[in-house]
Amino acid sequence: MFDSLKSKLKNVFHKSEKLDSEKIYEEPKADVPQGQTPPEPEKVPEQAAPAVEEKPLSRREQIKLEKKKKAEAKAETKHAPAETHTPSTSGMVGDSGKKIKEDPLDDILDELEVALLESDVAYPVVQEIILGVRDNLVNKKYSREFTLEQVVETAVKESVRNVLKVNEFDFMKWIEDQPRPTVIMFIGINGTGKTTAIAKIANMLQKDGKTVVMAACDTFRAGAIEQLTVHADKLGVKIVKQSQDADPAAVAYDAIEHARSKKKDVVLIDTAGRMQTNNNLIDEMKKIARVSKPALKIFVGDALAGNDAIEQAKVFDAAVGIDAVILTKIDTDAKGGAALSIAHTIGKPIAFVCNGQEYDDIEQFNADWMLERLFE
Ligand code: GDP
Repeated sequence: MFDSLKSKLKNVFHKSEKLDSEKIYEEPKADVPQGQTPPEPEKVPEQAAPAVEEKPLSRREQIKLEKKKKAEAKAETKHAPAETHTPSTSGMVGDSGKKIKEDPLDDILDELEVALLESDVAYPVVQEIILGVRDNLVNKKYSREFTLEQVVETAVKESVRNVLKVNEFDFMKWIEDQPRPTVIMFIGINGTGKTTAIAKIANMLQKDGKTVVMAACDTFRAGAIEQLTVHADKLGVKIVKQSQDADPAAVAYDAIEHARSKKKDVVLIDTAGRMQTNNNLIDEMKKIARVSKPALKIFVGDALAGNDAIEQAKVFDAAVGIDAVILTKIDTDAKGGAALSIAHTIGKPIAFVCNGQEYDDIEQFNADWMLERLFE
């Protein structure tokens, strides 16, 4: 899982370690023996700076300045970060120590940017991560006990965590507070693993003592009803279905009525998944949503689709409004781009990731889960 991204990140950290010499740090002129606290750095280089800046700025310098300004503005408006657990550069910073120069720092950030873009991380998310790292590193003095590799890795971890932390959703906690029956509608194109994800959620809810009804509302695709029925039978879950080409909204309505009369806890609605741009499909989704009034609309996306998954989510979100995401096939995803970007890009949390074909291959997603797998 995420092997390609993991090794690219390791490369970035490792390269920064090779730079770990006097070239990268702003040091006081005199040589300081190892382990001894250096005197306060002299301000000489900073005083000399204005003369150099008289020249018109190159494009690279302009970008650098822009990034710096953004980072500073962000640092000013940012409320105090919670630093109870998780990696934080704050423990590495002190009044004395090594201060990283801007130029080598930019080289590291450029490498990081390329690594993230090559891993299909969406551009705005890449920028957010880079700004966060810069913010964590620039103008800070690092204790001598840490190598540059450790410092950079921690700064990246912290920044990735801040990006992911914005959108978190505890499904099992949420469902406890919902009126019954709780209706959940699943949306996504064919082949992404929607049916399997519904079965996994049903299994999880049953294990938690909840009663479940499945609604086979993909009445368009031959075999979809049958496929869901196989899962329902295996799990011992009630399925409400009609024949192929029946009105999907009517099937959803029947399933909810059944759940009401039998006092079942949760209704899981499967829907059709022709191309997301198909207008009939979008109308169908809207009608099902109007009739069933789901408490939660979950978009199911294939992690392997990378940015395509994000585009699909945007289309469904604009049409029917999605509340959360399940990202499937994460076990075969080397890049990790969708997992890193989808929540931030569409502003909806990833509730779960699916990491295999068995019913138990589903895990609640949160920032720490992702960090553990990326930086293990
Ligand atoms: P649907 O058309 O969206 O309902 O997709 P299905 O649920 O039928 O899944 C399509 C294929 O992907 C099936 O072969 C599933 O076994 C497989 N699949 C689903 N989820 C995962 C997953 O998390 N990991 C892996 N490796 N395969 C999955």
